[in-house]
Amino acid sequence: MKKLIIANWKMQLSYSASLDLAKKFTAGLKNKKTEIVVCPEYLALPWVGEILKKSKLKLGAQDSAIRDRGAYTGEVSPLNLKTLGVKYVILGHSERREHLHENSAIISAKIKAALARKIIPILCVGEKLIEKENGSTRQYLAEELRHALKDVKIGDNTDLVIAYEPVWAISTNKNARPMAASEAEEIQKFLKAQTAKILKKKIRVLYGGSVNAINAVEFLRQPDVDGLLVGSASLNLKEFNRIC
Ligand code: PEP
Repeated sequence: MKKLIIANWKMQLSYSASLDLAKKFTAGLKNKKTEIVVCPEYLALPWVGEILKKSKLKLGAQDSAIRDRGAYTGEVSPLNLKTLGVKYVILGHSERREHLHENSAIISAKIKAALARKIIPILCVGEKLIEKENGSTRQYLAEELRHALKDVKIGDNTDLVIAYEPVWAISTNKNARPMAASEAEEIQKFLKAQTAKILKKKIRVLYGGSVNAINAVEFLRQPDVDGLLVGSASLNLKEFNRIC
């Protein structure tokens, strides 16, 4: 199976810069060996989607709501995202958990709503520095998975991806540094085993956290790293192209 590479542009670009970068990606990314998904911010998403149609790049969203319709001011409907051609949605990103106080119950409801529209959730899990330092990483990750995947059913026509993102490794956090690829491999294995137990299905697990054009190869060499979730380095065509 091809490695899956997700570009998470977060809220880093203006509307016009998002369209410019999408055009550069469409023209300049060499993506024979990887499946590439671009997740722009919402205002730009429909137009980035139009641009990506001319390529093999897929469209992703950075979040979606717990329902298709209703009185949910400010939310974005998974049904509307589906209509725009969105294939993947990032859910439970540590930035949303921290700044917007998203909890596991909300994340779980969002996963179910996305699956109902056959959008593939990319569920982000990851320990913070405190769990890493007190040696409770695996226990913490197992709990995150157990809560977020409660009553989630993956059938033959639906899919889900886990992104393992140690919060202390995300480049925008203070003193961030990437995890050693061999260490990430051990955790990826653990997450696969845990997820298989919960979902009764094998699913892909990605690594994310300070990935760049130099270290990406080490991560992608690991058999249990099924791809990468890339933040900062996905904002630069040259850098992202080397990763892909
Ligand atoms: C992220 O926030 O999902 C991420 C992986 O960011 P970065 O690559 O910049 O560490």
